[in-house]
Amino acid sequence: MENIKEKIEELRKALRYHSDRYYNDDAPEIEDYEYDMMMRELKKLEEQYPEYDTEDSPTKRVGGKADNSFDSVVHRVRMESLQDAFSKDEIYDFDSRVHNVVDSPKYCVEPKIDGLSVSLEYENGVFVRGSTRGDGNIGEDVSGNIKVIHNVPLKLTKDIPFIEVRGEVYMPKKSFERVVDRQLIKGEKPFKNPRNAAAGSLRQKDSEITATRGLDIFIFNIQQVEGVTLGSHKESLDFLQELGFNTVPDYTLVETIDEALSVIDKIGEERGNLEFDIDGAVIKVDDFEMRSQLGSTAKFPKWAVAFKYPPEEKQTKLVDIEIAVGRTGVLTPTAVLEPVHLAGTTVSRATLHNSDFIKEKGIAIGDIVTVRKAGDIIPEVLCVNEHNSNQFFEFPKLCPSCQSPVVKENDEAAIRCINPDCPAQLLRNLIHFCSRDAMDIEGLGPAILETFVDNGLIEKTEDIYSLTFEKIDSAKLEGFKEKSISNIIHSIENSKKNDLGKLIFGLGIRHIGAKAGNLLANHFRNMEAIMNASADDILKIDGFGDIMAESVVDFFNNEKSKELIKSLDENGVNMEAKNVVKDNRFENKTFVLTGTLPTLKRAEASKIIESFGGKTSSSVSKKTSYVLAGEEAGSKLDKANQLGIEIITEEEFMEMVK
Ligand code: NAD
Repeated sequence: MENIKEKIEELRKALRYHSDRYYNDDAPEIEDYEYDMMMRELKKLEEQYPEYDTEDSPTKRVGGKADNSFDSVVHRVRMESLQDAFSKDEIYDFDSRVHNVVDSPKYCVEPKIDGLSVSLEYENGVFVRGSTRGDGNIGEDVSGNIKVIHNVPLKLTKDIPFIEVRGEVYMPKKSFERVVDRQLIKGEKPFKNPRNAAAGSLRQKDSEITATRGLDIFIFNIQQVEGVTLGSHKESLDFLQELGFNTVPDYTLVETIDEALSVIDKIGEERGNLEFDIDGAVIKVDDFEMRSQLGSTAKFPKWAVAFKYPPEEKQTKLVDIEIAVGRTGVLTPTAVLEPVHLAGTTVSRATLHNSDFIKEKGIAIGDIVTVRKAGDIIPEVLCVNEHNSNQFFEFPKLCPSCQSPVVKENDEAAIRCINPDCPAQLLRNLIHFCSRDAMDIEGLGPAILETFVDNGLIEKTEDIYSLTFEKIDSAKLEGFKEKSISNIIHSIENSKKNDLGKLIFGLGIRHIGAKAGNLLANHFRNMEAIMNASADDILKIDGFGDIMAESVVDFFNNEKSKELIKSLDENGVNMEAKNVVKDNRFENKTFVLTGTLPTLKRAEASKIIESFGGKTSSSVSKKTSYVLAGEEAGSKLDKANQLGIEIITEEEFMEMVK
């Protein structure tokens, strides 16, 4: 018995942990299927051993907690979850439970969209509020972010006094690929799947960022409505469409559970071809009167069930292993497979994650492996079923793109190429080099750099400085007029005068951020001294540890790095320190600037802050140290007040930097 109690506690602990990663961090560590199976096991044990059942068990909870980044919204109509089913037998069980209460129910069957649940409220036909589900009773007010989703009508076609609808915000597969691509270019941690990408994007502090994420919405329910009477779900979906909502696609009304099951099969076959992710299909009793007779449990309605498609797995032969260099320099292994049909598509390639995974599973070319679609998008090799060879795959020691030696850092599973001129990483390095905190070359943004690389105008970082008006003009690129070309050339010329700290940061040395770049420049004063410095010399700088020091030494030991610096120098790029960090009084302090300051421009204030070792940020959070506020400061000031962050005037600021 003690063992059962321990097992129950262990499952609860694991479920709470994973629920927190999923709902609050938008970064799950395990597959949904694994999570659902753990939840089932816990439910079963609690039913078998009611003496260990508790009210706060994850089996009784809906979703995550609303955190305090947004205002809370109390849902007047609870946003329930759904009971789930993983087999046809469980669907038949559901049907008998329904038949025990009502006669001849009709069912509506819909795809279950894999996004996050929201409520939208309208007064007199006008959008007034949008909120997340949260724990079902209390969600977060994300109106600003909801409004930027183009399929959310801000005005309905009818001026009904009040309506609250429920829908699923999701990220179409195309948007997901684009967002992840951008994240990789910028060296950010990419979202794991479209569902988490949608949740992360909807809970952004800055709705301008949300607007770039290409979110969409499907509406699937009326939570409450005034002035209209509706008798069934199908009727309400048709009415929602009339009001201008994008309703859940392909809803089908059926008379029997067998018909419902064939719709589920059909949706399952189509799921790989849809432009959005679904994680199941929902069967709902159509008639509202029957629904109220059936009622709800603490967590879900008894009149609906979600059939979850199990992740499809297939066995196939591993024909080859290809190593590609990602834009962040990471070497990623891809399995080339004998094609198999999996979740709606033909799969002939799958990820092998990293070198540790290959070693751990003892993978070799010729093996029979199991392949699965993770999050139903990216196929992955799960395990080896039959070893056909004793020759385990050896990871290359040289970068397959530029033949430079690769490195594996202790704290990482990844093996990477650190050559700054590695063609595979070129675009990402260029974007970083030209970015605002680095060489600040206005006009050479990500899209333009991509065009220049694609058209052969830039092949290595230093090529930026041999771009001329004539070179760009003669490439005859669409949208490049005389004025825009001149502006680019002008910004490139200006960047040559930058302080050494910006250049060091721009080189993209691992672990060396903007601040460390400045510290190196201030300490050694010129590029040559930095290049000749030993790890011990670098360690003398306050704030530098072994990893950073070694990373700098490794970088400058690389022949390609030396060539890059030589070429930049010959092109007239400044190699001397100009900035003087007066002292580090603002070390670890973050300022947010808002409103119009009486005398200082924002850029000037930022410079002063940086010259004292501080940082500026565009949004107020718990980590903000001061909000420097001028006239007409808006929401940032409210937020600072809410979080109890010190607000200072320009006068007080000038006093601090005296
Ligand atoms: P759920 O996602 O299984 O079902 C309820 C939700 O379905 C509703 O909130 C609703 O918004 C949505 N939905 C989509 N289309 C719908 C439609 N047509 N009609 C009605 N509802 C529709 O339940 P849940 O409680 O939101 O979350 C549990 C899910 O989250 C599970 O699938 C679980 O695997 C996953 N999860 C995963 C992890 C992890 O670590 N991987 C952790 C926690 C939860």
